[in-house]
Amino acid sequence: TTLRSDEQAANQYVKNVYHATEKRNPHETEFLQAVKEIVDSLVPVLAHQPQYMESGILERLLEPEKVISFRIPWVDDQGKVQVNRGYRVQFNSALGPYKGGLRFHPSVNASIVKFLGFEQIFKNSLTGQPIGGGKGGSDFDPKAKSDMEIMRFCQSFMTELYQHIGPDTDVPAGDVGVSAREIGYMFGQYKKLRGAFEAGVLTGKGLEYGGSLARKEATGYGLVYFVQEMLKDNALDFNGSTVVVSGSGNVSIYTMDKAMEFGARVVACSDSDGCIYDENGIDLDTVKELKETGNERISAYLDKHPNAQYLEDCSQIWSIPCDIALPCATQNEIDEETAKTLLANGVKAVGEGANMPSTNEAINAFLDNDILFAPGKAANAGGVAVSALEMAQNSGKLMWSFEKVDARLQDIMKTIYQNSMQASSDYGTPGNLVAGANIAGFMKVADAMMAQGVI
Ligand code: GLU
Repeated sequence: TTLRSDEQAANQYVKNVYHATEKRNPHETEFLQAVKEIVDSLVPVLAHQPQYMESGILERLLEPEKVISFRIPWVDDQGKVQVNRGYRVQFNSALGPYKGGLRFHPSVNASIVKFLGFEQIFKNSLTGQPIGGGKGGSDFDPKAKSDMEIMRFCQSFMTELYQHIGPDTDVPAGDVGVSAREIGYMFGQYKKLRGAFEAGVLTGKGLEYGGSLARKEATGYGLVYFVQEMLKDNALDFNGSTVVVSGSGNVSIYTMDKAMEFGARVVACSDSDGCIYDENGIDLDTVKELKETGNERISAYLDKHPNAQYLEDCSQIWSIPCDIALPCATQNEIDEETAKTLLANGVKAVGEGANMPSTNEAINAFLDNDILFAPGKAANAGGVAVSALEMAQNSGKLMWSFEKVDARLQDIMKTIYQNSMQASSDYGTPGNLVAGANIAGFMKVADAMMAQGVI
């Protein structure tokens, strides 16, 4: 009965905290969605460890340590002045310097950067590496911009951001719309303004100037390592499975790469315009040519593979039957209805490569139907994990082999899986990786915050 009353008290406390967050952040729908998913799963932890409630850990965790918003003026190729908005949310530094990517996409706003930064705290904690949580970006749309426009934008972005970041304070990296090219332009500007070569200030750098081998592959490879671990635990395997991977950016490409290496048949991928369905298996070289080297739409895949099908709405990708669904495009691409379509088509496992690609209703639909579900903050942690390895190499002024980084990545993903499974059974929801990842990620941050006092 004591436990039940503790549980009730924790439940009430979580409700109160959530309502206060709603009140303080009206209209921030994505942030509130991410908060709701986390706090709901923490009830059993708070019931067993009331000291977290007593020291206001949740209240503090839900408020970013610092939020920076700034103007980014730049001149386009026509000589016209353009203005975008930049953000950096320094959410939590209990475990280390703020760490997290920069997203350049027209959808970026305060709510999106906050949800991403909030998730990053738990994800980074799960990696076991000494990194806090942060995120940033801009509503700048890189689509159809020239290389020089991208450069001028990146320079202007860094002209403001440089004073807020550093190898021991805040270490940005890439995300949607930001890859090695953008990191290079930003690193050049940071170096010039700082007057010093501080390699560890950004990760995802080119290999010539402090980047890590296997960083580019890390998120996709890590996702497949994590999902393979989950499948094997349930007598399943990528080998012989039919897989659908949404998106065709960095995460998607290296997810398809590793899934194929593990013997899967990947039949579909997409971009924001539409998706391709190639029953015999996607030809990854063609996708890489279109998306990594070129700047083309995925529809051009049909020029080389006329037998493939093109569906003109990217959400159609989830109507294609598969054993394993790997959403690697963007937030909320799978809602409850989409989840039901996947279920009706016999999906066995879902692994999130993107950040929050499933709505909370979709997640519940999967869990209620006993579908194996790997939540993004655990399953896509490979990218930021290797970013932390890049920081370690930078501070040691050395470079590890591809094999060494890849072996560390495999080990990290396995450990995240095991720790999340362990936490899920310790707190009464065995096998629920959503709860397990949230709990395992939370406890390390909470204990570090307790140790460091009320700050
Ligand atoms: N943007 C990636 C993520 O969502 C990587 C962040 C990083 O490497 O710092 O985790």
